[in-house]
Amino acid sequence: MAVHTVCEITPEEITALKASAIFAEKDKQHFSARFLVVGGLYSAEKLRTAAALAKRYGSGEVHFTTRQGFEIPHIPYAKLQRFREAVKKTPLEPARSGACVRGITACPGTYCKFGTIDTQGTAQAVFKKFGKRGKLPHKFKIAVGGCRHCCSKPQENDLGIMGVAGAYAIFVGGMAGKTPRWADRLPNTVKTQKELLQIIGKIIDWYAANGNTKERFGAVIERIGLAKLIESLTQ
Ligand code: SF4
Repeated sequence: MAVHTVCEITPEEITALKASAIFAEKDKQHFSARFLVVGGLYSAEKLRTAAALAKRYGSGEVHFTTRQGFEIPHIPYAKLQRFREAVKKTPLEPARSGACVRGITACPGTYCKFGTIDTQGTAQAVFKKFGKRGKLPHKFKIAVGGCRHCCSKPQENDLGIMGVAGAYAIFVGGMAGKTPRWADRLPNTVKTQKELLQIIGKIIDWYAANGNTKERFGAVIERIGLAKLIESLTQ
């Protein structure tokens, strides 16, 4: 079995750490621990906790991710176990990792003057219902935007929600990355949060039933056809 020098960490251990949202850095001697935040809204307490952990176990820096979560970088392997024990005593939750619903991003549409829906409340409700959904073909990213300005980029997510005059427009199959895909907008808007949650459940079920392992939602739509997905949502 191959063993990395200096900190003697095995590739198997690196993989296991990744499942807990702790990622080996380039030098395989330091680690970045990523944490979950829904909607990008941080309490002062969470920020203080992150700062204290970064100071004690990392380099004193915190990096905010493009999905509105945060990571504490540059934790040396020698401190990793104590860091993980310390995290357990805090309200911080590791970021979602692997083939599951990831942390949900949202713009401040709840209080932004252009917002037409409660983006923060929607993100929390969607996360409460689907945030633990795993065993999907691949990762599944969700973003909520309050108006057509799309600051949270709903069209670049597997599932995007956009406020339109107080209703919810839904986008499916978007992704960034090496082969970006602009999401398709479903034909009808949805008027209530209850209907929205129902339709999201059907969308995720369709993806779980039709996607192949490691196939992103947009690729499944390309292969099977948007019409088939829309048809399944009316059943
Ligand atoms: S998408 Fe609209 S509601 Fe959300 S932050 Fe941007 S301008 Fe405001």
